[in-house]
Amino acid sequence: MTIAAELESVALTLADTARELYQRGWMEGTAGNLSARLPGSGGLALITASGRSKGRLDPADVVEVDIATGQSVSSHAPRPSAETAIHTALYRLFPDCGAVAHAHPPYATVAASHAVRQRPGNGHVIVELRYRDFEIIKGFGSSDPHQVVVPVFPNWPDVTRIGRDVEHHFHTRAAGFPSVLLIAYHGATAWGPTLEIARNRLECLESLCRLDLINIQTTPPAKETP
Ligand SMILES: [Zn+2]
Repeated sequence: MTIAAELESVALTLADTARELYQRGWMEGTAGNLSARLPGSGGLALITASGRSKGRLDPADVVEVDIATGQSVSSHAPRPSAETAIHTALYRLFPDCGAVAHAHPPYATVAASHAVRQRPGNGHVIVELRYRDFEIIKGFGSSDPHQVVVPVFPNWPDVTRIGRDVEHHFHTRAAGFPSVLLIAYHGATAWGPTLEIARNRLECLESLCRLDLINIQTTPPAKETP
């Protein structure tokens, strides 16, 4: 396959997946962004352009960016997603990360927002959400299939600051964590060796957050002992 044909193939996959996530209501307005590392490119990734409806992307609505800098490699290309800094931080951290999916799935976003409201710091510190026992946890493919800890990052207006937080947080963690993160009052990000695996992990995270919220709402309060 020529380089141009390979680029076209990756761009088509990004556009198809974006349309699917848009149709699920996870990329409303122009929200959400997807990217894929370009193998053999010497450190480039393809990411969806900024300000486009993810339900109507075509293969021209993607941008090649330098993973080291987060900058577009062409001055004529559309502007890359505003959240490119989060994607490139993940590619720099994890050499086996081949794709990143970021969206605004409602249950995951609400769970992240609850998490920061319940803790000191009012959304300005990184907190962790812990889940146990749900079968869907196995879908993350992390070292412990019975429990998972998901970091929730502050939603700084300057997205490069979120990227720096992500890079610092995972750089200081041992291996074995799930390849997902949340951003308070904002959304969810997942990554993996392929875009399909990243999308699967995003689905697992949304499902887990939905199940947990329903579980909390439907669990009767413990009876007081007389
Ligand atoms: Zn977002």
